[in-house]
Amino acid sequence: MSPTTKTAVVTGAARGIGAGVATRLAADGFDVAVIDLDEGSTADTVAAVKAQGRTGLGVGLDVSDPDAVEAGVGRIAEQLGAPAVLVNNAGITRDNLLFKMTVEEWDQVMNVHLRGSFLMSKAVQKFMVDAKWGRIVNLSSTSALGNRGQANYSTAKAGLQGFTRTLAIELGQFGITVNAIAPGFIATAMTEATAQRIGVDFGEFQKAAATRIPVRRVGQPDDIAQAVSFFVDERSSFVNGQILYVTGGPNVCPGKGPCPAPAAGVPLAVPRRRAPDRTAALG
Ligand code: NAP
Repeated sequence: MSPTTKTAVVTGAARGIGAGVATRLAADGFDVAVIDLDEGSTADTVAAVKAQGRTGLGVGLDVSDPDAVEAGVGRIAEQLGAPAVLVNNAGITRDNLLFKMTVEEWDQVMNVHLRGSFLMSKAVQKFMVDAKWGRIVNLSSTSALGNRGQANYSTAKAGLQGFTRTLAIELGQFGITVNAIAPGFIATAMTEATAQRIGVDFGEFQKAAATRIPVRRVGQPDDIAQAVSFFVDERSSFVNGQILYVTGGPNVCPGKGPCPAPAAGVPLAVPRRRAPDRTAALG
């Protein structure tokens, strides 16, 4: 069965993984609603969608705001058509060791990742149920397995895995599949900000991370877009409730014995400009 509309919605798509996903879905034949906090910041991604010959619509909203989500999804349905695909990609980090983590840092991360994915999924599901077709893809992370300095982020990303499996069970009967991708190290503003925070040059940070990854490179947004494209494909209708780790290898540290997450920790080989602060966390 095929989708009745070709409307995809990608959150946090002004840059990074979201921009890569939006562009890939356009190449796959979808019109794309490009959601981010500031509508102006979506211009480049909207242009990339149009360059693929599809319609792009920039929508500025905070995914953790219920009224904004309802209004935004309504506008998307009116202007682009009923959403057939949702990628819950918007994300933030507010890293700190537990003893220093503030309630605000905890709440902000929960709000964007968990509340945001909940609100967006709830808003689009009615269109998908009516159409008897839908695809929801959530962005988890290797940090779901535990990562120093990320009690908030790791909890949210693990929570998204339970959310994914539960929606898959509830919505499967309506022709809707719900899956998650758990990326390792992907080169974006998020990982660049981590390098900056711990005083390491981003190029050096990536090189050192690559030595711990079996394919010997860090990931790019297109690597995640490829996995999204697979889950969204009409022919993937029997793939439901799965968590796909896209990390360049299994979850081991080559030559150093097992580690909890392939992207975890600042590689020891990286020279630091100043003493590391409280966290060695990645996206
Ligand atoms: P990024 O470059 O920081 O992009 C995230 C985007 O989300 C930004 O454009 C940001 O807008 C937007 N955003 C933040 N809060 C939002 C909100 N409340 N409502 C709407 N948009 C919001 O991050 P990325 O690296 O591409 O990561 C994308 C996703 O993959 C995230 O869920 C992240 O946790 C996950 N992930 C990333 C990595 C990695 O290594 N990069 C690894 C595993 C998982 P502003 O610029 O205005 O803040």
